[in-house]
Amino acid sequence: MEGSAPDSVGTVSSWLRCYRCWSTNLEAQIHYEGVLKIDATTGEAADPVDEVQEAVIQCLDCLHDQPHLSLTLYEEDGRRFSRVEAVEDRWERMVAGTPWVASCTVTVDSDQVETCSGPEAADSLAFGAFGDHGTREFFTHVRFHKHDSDQIVIHMLVELYARSAEEATEVLEGAARGPLSITSLAEESRPPAATLDDDAH
Ligand SMILES: [Zn+2]
Repeated sequence: MEGSAPDSVGTVSSWLRCYRCWSTNLEAQIHYEGVLKIDATTGEAADPVDEVQEAVIQCLDCLHDQPHLSLTLYEEDGRRFSRVEAVEDRWERMVAGTPWVASCTVTVDSDQVETCSGPEAADSLAFGAFGDHGTREFFTHVRFHKHDSDQIVIHMLVELYARSAEEATEVLEGAARGPLSITSLAEESRPPAATLDDDAH
């Protein structure tokens, strides 16, 4: 049998690419914070007693973050290495989808929003409305918010990737941390692809 290009859905190359421009030119930026125990006699500082690692994977062509990819740290035979993995319930929708722009409101309890003024307000309101999706996956533009006794109504324009209007609605509903109301939902065209490789026509 003749071999075909190993690029069907489910292989590494179908998800290991930028979800916007499909470039495979990616890098991981790691923010590492460690606490090392110090040996009082030798001064040697080794074996982190505590560590925090946060990785953001970015496309070198369009410079966007890649929320459908995560970096996992492994330890094998005392050697450490990292590998990029797909976020299972997200990558197919984002890589194969198109951008959808929703005009919507989410109503949340005011204690779900850390701060609604100052430089942190936009992020804090986006997180209050959609959790991690609001700050890491979607492009969330908070237009304004209104206080209604102990609730906050957050008015936003949200861009997300999905394969259909139904899927976009489901994702927004799943992410919303309070009652969601979508006033409009429109499909946009995909940004241009960085390179035309194997499976693109
Ligand atoms: Zn890109």
